[in-house]
Amino acid sequence: MKILFAVWEIDPFFKFGGLGDVARAFPAALKDLGVDIRITIPFYKAVKLGRNRKKLLCRLRVEYAGRKEKVEIYEVAHPLNNVPVYFLKNKKYLDIVSAADTFAFFDKAVVDIVKNNSLDFQPDIIQCNDHHTGMIPLLVKENKLNIKTIMTIHNLAYQGFNSKEVLDKLGIEHTKSRLIRWEIKRRQINFLMEGIIHADAVTTVSPTYAQEIMTEEFGMGLEELLRGKEGRIFGILNGISADTRYKYHGKLNTCEFVQRKSEFKNNFGEHLKFFLEKKRKNKLLLQRKLGLRATSKLPLSCFIGRLDPAQKGLDILHKMIRKVIDSEDNQFVILGSGNIDWQKRFEWLYKFYPKYISCNFKFDEGLAHEIYEASDFILIPSKFEPCGLIQMLGMYFGTIPIAHRTGGLADSIKTYYNGFLFDRYSSVALRNTYERAVEIWKKDRKKFEEMVVNALNTDFSWDLRAKEYRELYEKLISGSI
Ligand code: ADP
Repeated sequence: MKILFAVWEIDPFFKFGGLGDVARAFPAALKDLGVDIRITIPFYKAVKLGRNRKKLLCRLRVEYAGRKEKVEIYEVAHPLNNVPVYFLKNKKYLDIVSAADTFAFFDKAVVDIVKNNSLDFQPDIIQCNDHHTGMIPLLVKENKLNIKTIMTIHNLAYQGFNSKEVLDKLGIEHTKSRLIRWEIKRRQINFLMEGIIHADAVTTVSPTYAQEIMTEEFGMGLEELLRGKEGRIFGILNGISADTRYKYHGKLNTCEFVQRKSEFKNNFGEHLKFFLEKKRKNKLLLQRKLGLRATSKLPLSCFIGRLDPAQKGLDILHKMIRKVIDSEDNQFVILGSGNIDWQKRFEWLYKFYPKYISCNFKFDEGLAHEIYEASDFILIPSKFEPCGLIQMLGMYFGTIPIAHRTGGLADSIKTYYNGFLFDRYSSVALRNTYERAVEIWKKDRKKFEEMVVNALNTDFSWDLRAKEYRELYEKLISGSI
């Protein structure tokens, strides 16, 4: 079984968000199951190869915008798992990301490479990820290649609109399909939509999100199209493979729990005392580092994520914190980058309560890990969340999630077991749930500690998910889907 995994980011070479984590860890788990999986990604100037050696595999010409462009393929073995990564180099289109051409050109290059057998690796399936790779399924069809395609939706909110001229550049006739004619009328091409239409199967990153995207509330305008694909849409939860990645912690020398965690395997109950003591120390270390009042007596809750007001629930989070912070009975840590307006609003809270809220507006993985290791709760008020890795990472570090019941949050958190979910998207619902959680933290330590053990024991490893994907690949190849 041979799979080519096409993606626009991969940790640690070029990481932008959660998809970069997925591209690092998911293919590795499939490789462990015996699947021959390889990754392909543009070779941007910003790619950091570090000490990893690249090998030039071949050169070819890719026709785009009426010209034959030179593309070089470099192979690098992923440093954490040895999965081959093929970097495609082209100065004009792939050096720097441009919305107009980079992804259209990359998609064309991927399909040309497979068509010409340039890699000596003929995939049975190309797995495309998000809109960046959305033109691949159509190009595979156009070239009549005997290869199946999967379109994996990580976030429907980003669809990749492009001008209709891109079709000319790709050499696709405008009259090819009814849909393209309709798109042409709108004078725009929607890459993700093309991917959904032409792929043999569509997957998304949690079972709940697979249902949600068929509704008007979450479908982002594509719900009807998605409903028409029912039976070919599969929701498989993402996972985390924290063990290898979080070894980087050692360098920080502040928070140390995770270094011992792997020794305990799935038996944290016995080691709970050790763990709680570490967590208590971590919290004091972090409070001091961030200038918060250093005390074990107050619950410390964190928010880690992109400051995206359309998705991440910043409005209800801010309102909830505003309501509870003046009692000076709670502490909060915010780590995020993005929207400047929201940065200012959170910063304003800091001005009044510097000992009770810490605002960190940057992308800092080291700090993120320290926060996971030190906090009692992680707040995830997202309006929608296709999967969400933060709740899994939180639980991996024994930090209890308080989250909106949506998408992957609904599929990974069980109230009173390993976290707390609230149903209605409102600051009142968030606040009520937060206060209930804090009440347990303060007054029912036995219950709280039981929940911490459950969170630590919940298995979010990629191994489980990879098996589900392998089954899907088998069905696709055998033609039973
Ligand atoms: P999304 O993909 O919507 O950004 P996810 O929950 O799937 O959200 O993944 C977010 C990932 O990025 C997690 O690994 C989280 O720890 C990390 N992250 C988000 N914001 C920051 C930040 N400001 N600094 C460091 N890591 C961050």
